[in-house]
Amino acid sequence: MSMRELVVLGTASQAPTRARNHNGYVLRWDDEVILFDPGEGTQRQLLHSTVTATDLTRICVTHFHGDHCLGLPGTIQRLSLDRVPHPVAVHFPAGGAEYFARLRHASSFYETAELTVEPITADGQRITLRCGTLEARRLRHPIETYGYRLVEPDGCRMLPEKLSAYNIAGPAVGELLRVGHLDVAGRRVTRDEVSVPRPGQRFAFVMDTGLCDGVYALAEHADLLVIESTFLESETALAAEVGHLTAAQAARVAAECGVRRLVLTHFSQRYPEPARFADEARRYFDGDLVIAEDLTIVPVPPRQVASAG
Ligand SMILES: [Zn+2]
Repeated sequence: MSMRELVVLGTASQAPTRARNHNGYVLRWDDEVILFDPGEGTQRQLLHSTVTATDLTRICVTHFHGDHCLGLPGTIQRLSLDRVPHPVAVHFPAGGAEYFARLRHASSFYETAELTVEPITADGQRITLRCGTLEARRLRHPIETYGYRLVEPDGCRMLPEKLSAYNIAGPAVGELLRVGHLDVAGRRVTRDEVSVPRPGQRFAFVMDTGLCDGVYALAEHADLLVIESTFLESETALAAEVGHLTAAQAARVAAECGVRRLVLTHFSQRYPEPARFADEARRYFDGDLVIAEDLTIVPVPPRQVASAG
């Protein structure tokens, strides 16, 4: 059974607090371990978490405001210090390439880690991974910003009792999966007769943005949505002005898009009581709700299993 979970490293917007580090989120998803938006202190937060720098396979940056990227120098240098043996892919808005170049070489170090730099150059850009498709969508913020989602393709789950009823076993199962049908004892058995659909899982990561099409496109049917809720509804006008969301807006997006588990984060330090975000979101969203704390681990909810009809 593969592990799919979110490890929250930091949850503060703009300035850290005594209880909240700057941003940082790790998604473990099969053979991928993706670090999103490493803010200052990410290297030390990793130390407090279950993730090591050597685990990382990929880094995704939504935009180059400091609270989302000032952890890059430390994290990148740590990859070299630990002599991470595999290449680490890095994605960020192409318009911020100059910032990335500076952060990557912010100070002198002995570079051994291999970074595969693949900037995002267009809305809807897709990167094919072994475990699914990573897609970037443009968000609405004062500087070029992209959110990301990981989409696993739909598949099917073989039903052992039906397979044995047709005497199908061993390599024949693989052939049936691949080809879609198999001739057994003079009869054609189709894949649909011996399997049920297995819907692919989806993860979405939506940081600094006002409401826009990209937010909805990313959140659509997400099993796990991580979304900023910098403000509360009382600051709706301010949120729109500075390109951010309120807890109410984030919760309404989750409800409209059929999100299963909603993780709110990136809180303004003006609100010391996290319960207020929960109270506000609950008015609009009745699925699983997590108000992120530093070092929280949030599992991707178990796959919704289609019944054998
Ligand atoms: Zn920002």
